[in-house]
Order: sequence, then structure tokens, then C-alpha cells
Amino acid sequence: MKKLSVIVPCYNESEVLAAFYKEITRVADSCENYEFELLFVNDGSRDDTLNIIEGFSKNDKRVKYISFSRNFGKEAAMLAGLEYCTGDFAGFIDADLQHSPDLIPEMLKAVDEDGYDVAACKRVDREGESKFKSFLSASFYKIINKISETYIDDGAQDYRIMKRSVVEAILSMRECSRFTKGIFSWVGFNTKWFPHENRERAAGTTKWSVTKLFKYALDGIIGYTSSPLRISTYSGIFLIILSALYAIGVIIRLIAAGHVFSLTLRAVLFAVLFVGGLVLVCIGIAGEYLSRIYTEVKDRPKYLIAKTNCDK
Ligand code: UDP
Ligand code: MG
Repeated sequence: MKKLSVIVPCYNESEVLAAFYKEITRVADSCENYEFELLFVNDGSRDDTLNIIEGFSKNDKRVKYISFSRNFGKEAAMLAGLEYCTGDFAGFIDADLQHSPDLIPEMLKAVDEDGYDVAACKRVDREGESKFKSFLSASFYKIINKISETYIDDGAQDYRIMKRSVVEAILSMRECSRFTKGIFSWVGFNTKWFPHENRERAAGTTKWSVTKLFKYALDGIIGYTSSPLRISTYSGIFLIILSALYAIGVIIRLIAAGHVFSLTLRAVLFAVLFVGGLVLVCIGIAGEYLSRIYTEVKDRPKYLIAKTNCDK
């Protein structure tokens, strides 16, 4: 019998876990031809999440868990899940029931019988999300797809099932700043897309703050394109041409009128401020890349496990 590992990243999800477990086991029981592994990754929750998961695992052999020593973020939780899962297929699903488990049988069929490597969900609307958040994420995808070599699909969700070969491909990418949406798209493979409505969270609140999302967006841009670095080169060239034209203009005026107006002084002041600002921005951009190189070079573990019932 083929095995599907369902990886569930959990961060302070005690309110919703019981409902989630009920739903996922109902679907697992209905897929009679497959063995299931429910791999919960407790991402340093400060509530009862770990106790609840341990409770499940006592009565249900399918339940495996990994518990981090602190909160390392959803990206790290997903990575740990892939590293420890044992299935022929592996999939991600959120614990908050925003991802409907009822799609799993169809997704399994796509990868097992229809010859696809990945079955992934795509958001069709942004209902239930704040206008501000929708606007920010729409702008993010517009920018990143203009400047990045890897196309990153707006609306592509983490909710997906993939073959073992895809799992190995994702694991072969060892970077520390993990932007999973970029990784999914970078590895490629034959993907079947499932339209999936955004549902309301069953309980609890979103774990993503605006600052967390901003950092995530920055990781996405910096991880998948070097074009911001080129801004400094291009603007430098532009400024050199501009200042050369300006100098020529001043010389012509000097020859024609014999003097220049004090207006020039203000223009110079403006130019100094403008160039100063530009230089700082460019240094900042280079610094963002540098700090990520530093993180990669340190090569610290992407997560630390405090407790697990996995064999590996
Ligand atoms: N999550 C996690 N670590 C984090 C933040 C979130 O493991 O630092 C998990 C969370 O428990 C949930 C999933 O990632 O299962 C998606 O999080 P959430 O529902 O808060 O995000 P949203 O749906 O609002 O984008
Ligand atoms: Mg959610």
C-alpha cells in the first residue's frame, strides 16, 4: 500500500487542532487504498499544542510529531516535515482548516494515477482577507514577477501533495532563507492545479504579522533575483550622464553670459542631497544581500528539535 505523509505546521493552534484532527482522520479513513502518516510539526507553540498532538499520537499510530525548541517559522516547519516524512507522497496542509481536507483524495489521484508530479491548490479569490493585506500581496507578486527570473505564481498555496522525487528536489536546495513559494516554482515539475476557495479560519487567529510578511516578501525578492543590486549601476550611469549634461550647460552659459546665477548653488545642494540619498539606498540594498550571504555562510541549523516520536 502506498503511503501519504500529511505535514501539518502548527504554531499556537490548540483551539483548532481537535477539529482539524477529526476532519483529517475522516478523510484518511475514506482513502482505503492508502496508508496515512500525519506528521505534525509543532513550531515552538506556547500554548497546549504539543500536549494535544501527543494525545493524538497515543491512540493513533499514524500520528507522528516533531516539536521545535522555539518558533522557527512555517518555512522551517515545512522543511522539517519533508526531512522526516516517510511517505511515497508528501503534502502540506494548514492546521486551521482553511485548506479543505476533502480535496486530498482528488489530489492523490492526480499524482498517483494521472501522471502528475505535484497536485497543488491555487487561490481563486482573496475573500476573508483584509483589503490592506490583499493589496500588499498583489503588489508584491507584481514586483517580484517583473524583476525575478523565477515566475512566482500569485495565489499558489502551500496546500499541495507531491511525489517523493519532488520532495528530494526540494530537499536538495539547502539555503537558509527559505522562501517556499519560490522553491516550489524553481524546482518545476508537472503540476496539476486545483482551484481552492479561501475559507475562514476554523478558530484562533492568523500567525502572520505585517512585519513577518514583509520579511517574507524581502526573502522572496532577494532570494530569487539580483536585479535590485543592478539599481545602483544603472542609477550611477544615469547620474553621470545627467551631471555631464549639466556641466556642458553651465559651460555654455558661462561662455555666452560671462557669469552664472546663484541658483546654481541651490541646484548643487539639491544634487548633493539627491545623490547622497541614492548612495544610501544602494548601500542598503547591497547590505540586504550581504546579510543573507552572512546567514548562509554561518550555515546554522534551520530548526532544532526538542522532542519527536519519529524514528529517523
Ligand atoms: N505556522 C507555523 N509557524 C509560524 C506561523 C504559522 O507553523 O511561525 C503555521 C500555522 O500554525 C498554520 C499555518 O502555518 O498551520 C498557516 O498559518 P496562518 O493560518 O496563521 O497563516 P494565514 O492562513 O493567515 O496565512
Ligand atoms: Mg491560515
